[in-house]
Amino acid sequence: MESEKMWKKFSKAYREYKANEYGYVICFTCGYSNHYKRMDTGHYIDRRHGAVKFNPLNIEIQCMICNRLNNGEIEKYRKNLIERYGADVEELLHNEAKFGAPMLQHEVETMITYYKQLKKLKDEARQNLRPSDSEAKEEV
Ligand SMILES: [Zn+2]
Repeated sequence: MESEKMWKKFSKAYREYKANEYGYVICFTCGYSNHYKRMDTGHYIDRRHGAVKFNPLNIEIQCMICNRLNNGEIEKYRKNLIERYGADVEELLHNEAKFGAPMLQHEVETMITYYKQLKKLKDEARQNLRPSDSEAKEEV
């Protein structure tokens, strides 16, 4: 599969996994919330660096304004990234971008499956947390 198609599939699976039960996700750099279909999966290091294109440490949900119009809001992205993973993450990603090999197609496919399974587990957990119909009636 061509790399851009692969990216679209991966990005969709990632955003679906990240979404809450109403399908909403939050922008990593500005906090704006919208449906995952109207949001992007942004990168810290540009995805033209193939080795970090699908690296989970290098991707976050972003709104289209931050990701497309404001060049990824890279300073805010950097600050939040370090807050989340620690100061070493930056060097790690830069080294990976420089010396790492791009993921192979089957590796990306495995990651897509992984995010889909995580989403399924999340959905199941939500179902189990919800009161069943009989329990809901008792509460009335
Ligand atoms: Zn944003």
